[in-house]
Amino acid sequence: MSERVIPLVDQRLQALAATIPSQAIAAQGLLSDSLGRPLHDLRISVTDRCNFRCNYCMPKEVFNKDYAYLPHGDLLSFEEITRLAKVFVAHGVRKIRLTGGEPLLRKNLEILVDQLANIRTPDGTPLDLTLTTNGSLLARKAQALKDAGLNRVTVSLDGLDDAIFRQMNDVDFPVADVLAGIAAAKEAGLGLDAQGQLTGLKVNMVVKRSTNVDQILPMARHFRGTGITLRFIEYMDVGATNGWCMDEVLPSAEVIAHLQQAFPLIPLEPSAPGETAQRWGYANAAGQFDPALGEVGVISSVTQAFCRDCNRARLSTEGKLYLCLFATQGYDLRHLMRQDGTTDADLASAIGHIWQHRDDRYSELRAHQPTDSAPAVRRVEMSYIGG
Ligand code: SAM
Ligand code: SF4
Ligand code: SF4
Repeated sequence: MSERVIPLVDQRLQALAATIPSQAIAAQGLLSDSLGRPLHDLRISVTDRCNFRCNYCMPKEVFNKDYAYLPHGDLLSFEEITRLAKVFVAHGVRKIRLTGGEPLLRKNLEILVDQLANIRTPDGTPLDLTLTTNGSLLARKAQALKDAGLNRVTVSLDGLDDAIFRQMNDVDFPVADVLAGIAAAKEAGLGLDAQGQLTGLKVNMVVKRSTNVDQILPMARHFRGTGITLRFIEYMDVGATNGWCMDEVLPSAEVIAHLQQAFPLIPLEPSAPGETAQRWGYANAAGQFDPALGEVGVISSVTQAFCRDCNRARLSTEGKLYLCLFATQGYDLRHLMRQDGTTDADLASAIGHIWQHRDDRYSELRAHQPTDSAPAVRRVEMSYIGG
């Protein structure tokens, strides 16, 4: 075992009860938490399994053949996910992201996509339905996902150099196959907006100082002018197994400085409230943002906390509701939902009650801590609640 890897304590065993409050809370789309933040995004983890072993997420030493993944009966069924999703939408959710683990490993995922794509908001609008994937199975599945109603996709890719990429996914997976997945997504029309512009196809690159800093410029060069938006993510102290330390974090400000050496960049306005990425547009020779060249984003989860606008809830693979990526416990919606007689109104009340009491702002609080290492609390793994 590598020295830095911390043994896993199974947080999945711990759960908070999701209870129905004595005063019903109707789903009217007006919910806010105790810090005034609305409920807008729902991330749904559809599997805790993955075919990659990225060392910042599912290090091989922990996620090995002895690791106990959730048994199939513990997973929410597609019908259960859709039932909960409808309640969340009635409460104000407008965007759903499917994630994992690797979501494309969940069998027949396009059936779930179809069910979610048919949900309408109270004013009759479809949801913004998207998915985050490592891209390994995307070439095979992009068209079926698009046909089922998926709007957009984000592909994680940590470098273009094949040796570096194989090292980071730690299962010797070739970069060419992920690039083929991205090409298939583009070909299928994933990420096209209502005007037919490619605005929703994104590539996320986690930057680790010791590993892939020299991939920043090649990645930018590769995706500039393609309509695909590249976003750089600060390596986060999520979970308890990746042995995170601050030395490995390349702050977004340094990423931008790095990029500016090759390409002039102009800061752009956020496209939506609560957006996690700061946007920068490529400039033309006149120093103006050139939409044809596109944009890059930086997600500064470590150096610039964005908790104040955090409007995201997370539903784990077996139906626990997490209010923060760094939460230590989730609320057991599955148990409540599987009880005889629980109505959708009961679920709405329980979810409403939980959200109204939410006060999570982990990153903001961590920013004020003197230490350069992750606090010693035991947290859930990102592969379990999804990124
Ligand atoms: N398997 C899919 C994938 O990799 O896209 C979806 C799940 S993955 C947990 C979601 C996102 O979280 C990916 O973009 C991944 O790079 C990111 N991620 C995982 N661990 C991270 C960490 N420690 N710091 C920053 N990002 C991380
Ligand atoms: Fe798998 Fe995604 Fe985690 Fe990598 S980041 S190990 S692809 S879940
Ligand atoms: Fe949201 Fe928690 Fe991340 Fe803050 S730390 S932005 S509350 S998920």
